[in-house]
Amino acid sequence: TTATLYRSPRPDPCVSFELYPPRTPKGEQTLTRTVGALAEIQPDYFSVTYGASGSTRNTSRDLIGRILSGTPVTPLAHLTCVGASEEDLSEYVSSLLEAGVRDFLALRGDPPAGQPDWRPHPDGLTRASQLVHLLRRLATEHLGSDGADVSISVATYPGGSYDESGRPVVCPNDVSALLEKQAAGADFAITQLFYDARHYAELVQAARAAGVHIPIVPGLIPLTDPNRLRRMVELTGVAVPPVLLEHLDEAADKEEAYRRGLAASVRLVREVLETGAPGIHFYTFNSSRAVLDLLHASGLR
Ligand code: FAD
Repeated sequence: TTATLYRSPRPDPCVSFELYPPRTPKGEQTLTRTVGALAEIQPDYFSVTYGASGSTRNTSRDLIGRILSGTPVTPLAHLTCVGASEEDLSEYVSSLLEAGVRDFLALRGDPPAGQPDWRPHPDGLTRASQLVHLLRRLATEHLGSDGADVSISVATYPGGSYDESGRPVVCPNDVSALLEKQAAGADFAITQLFYDARHYAELVQAARAAGVHIPIVPGLIPLTDPNRLRRMVELTGVAVPPVLLEHLDEAADKEEAYRRGLAASVRLVREVLETGAPGIHFYTFNSSRAVLDLLHASGLR
């Protein structure tokens, strides 16, 4: 396989889905159904999240193997710098390259639970840009041709805050980190979730002004479950607009909230595509219903 994700412009937006390795037998069953249902619409790739500990790392590799052998969909492997030496990380990446993986998302990773600040492994990497360099070097060693057969994506952050005049605020640190990751050889960026298309538009504008030319793909979650949105604030630190939560909370029941959330999601999808987004990456939470309804309702598939 040759990595072509976001390499050349296409008339239709790319569509991709994030999956995580299941943690329970029930989660395993749900995932099997979800992968089957999502593979049917022929997404551009399935991305597979990565946990730092050895066991979650193996379950990531298992899921990637299942995608490779059981579906026609390209797997994209997340990687972080957490809890591993450079040598250890290189071995893991080499095993993925040997298995046929050609697409990666290079991340720094978050500190382990209970540890407030980021501390690198004594023999490890400290920033995603270093992981991009490492991936390009390993790809060249394993595959030749300057590692060009491998696509490397990176994370970027639209944030969720506004200034006094109500204008979305972009963090200059995040734009300079993105520029550094592009200089290291990143091919495209995927955003953290956000709820207002203007945050995405502002980030793209600020990144372009700073010299970022790689595609910036919006990462979206279906807005169909207000309790999940509340949990996501804790996980990502991105604030949910209070009007959106009120609108969902005022629904008569769960199904009504679902319909309201779906309509809000369709609007968000349309708005980011109108601002020129080259595709959409959906955070699925290993569930297919909401993303499939959303794709259908927004005319994407
Ligand atoms: P970096 O780009 O390395 O940036 C880290 C910090 O350093 C930022 O604050 C940045 O501003 C700063 N920085 C970078 N370069 C410089 C510089 N030159 N000077 C000063 N400051 C700098 N986590 C997981 O553990 N597993 C996953 O599977 C996972 N998947 C993700 C998928 C997506 C699409 C996203 C958006 C995030 C994901 N994360 C995942 C979370 C991610 O690991 C964290 O957000 C992490 O805290 C930052 O990672 P990064 O790659 O953006 O870091």
